[in-house]
Amino acid sequence: MEPEKSILIVEDEGEIRRFLRISLVNHGYKLFEASKGEEGLTLLSEKQPDLVILDLGLPDLDGMNFTKRAREWTSVPIIILSARNQEKDKIEALEAGADDYVTKPFGILELMARIKVAFRHSSAKDGSPEDPIFTSGDLRVDLTKRMVTFKGEEVHLTPIEYKILHLLVKNADRVVRQDVLLREVWGPGHAKESHYLRVYFGQLRQKLEEEPARPKYLITEPGVGYRLRVHETGS
Ligand code: CA
Repeated sequence: MEPEKSILIVEDEGEIRRFLRISLVNHGYKLFEASKGEEGLTLLSEKQPDLVILDLGLPDLDGMNFTKRAREWTSVPIIILSARNQEKDKIEALEAGADDYVTKPFGILELMARIKVAFRHSSAKDGSPEDPIFTSGDLRVDLTKRMVTFKGEEVHLTPIEYKILHLLVKNADRVVRQDVLLREVWGPGHAKESHYLRVYFGQLRQKLEEEPARPKYLITEPGVGYRLRVHETGS
């Protein structure tokens, strides 16, 4: 049995804290709760939880500043809760080092999936080797051979297409910001050329999606970036 993991919730809305408390305790997590940012930072240092769920709209501290201050001394995974109109704040918090986000209103299954992914990435960072073969549904990427197959057929990608896919595989199921993709793939001078991404994601979807207009793997996160969705293989 896995040791009990603990989660710190920083959220000023009592209703949402209650909803999270019920669901997370049911899933076997131990909880700490704060309704303000400063209180959250104190609990973070005292209790050292395994993950933080952070509301962006707190009365005393915004998500970016909370994340910046937390990142001065901890790499704990941080998942942001944001409202639809908080695109800019969300990006700032991700830039400051938050790991992922869910948009309110969210379903508990979506949040659970994000939590699992965040835990998987934090244990990978701790040194357990990552699987060199990535699979999601009909998509398979062999990172050692740089070989991509879709529905069992080898797919030829250009070097840039492969770089994009590789970065997404490394962050499977997590959002990768546009500026990060542009910087990693094209270099530091290109962080604003988001039209490159539209073109290349169009090409990748032609090669790796059954219905390019309704992607199942290469998901656009409007205003933020892209996410490679992981599906069970063989389903
Ligand atoms: Ca709030």
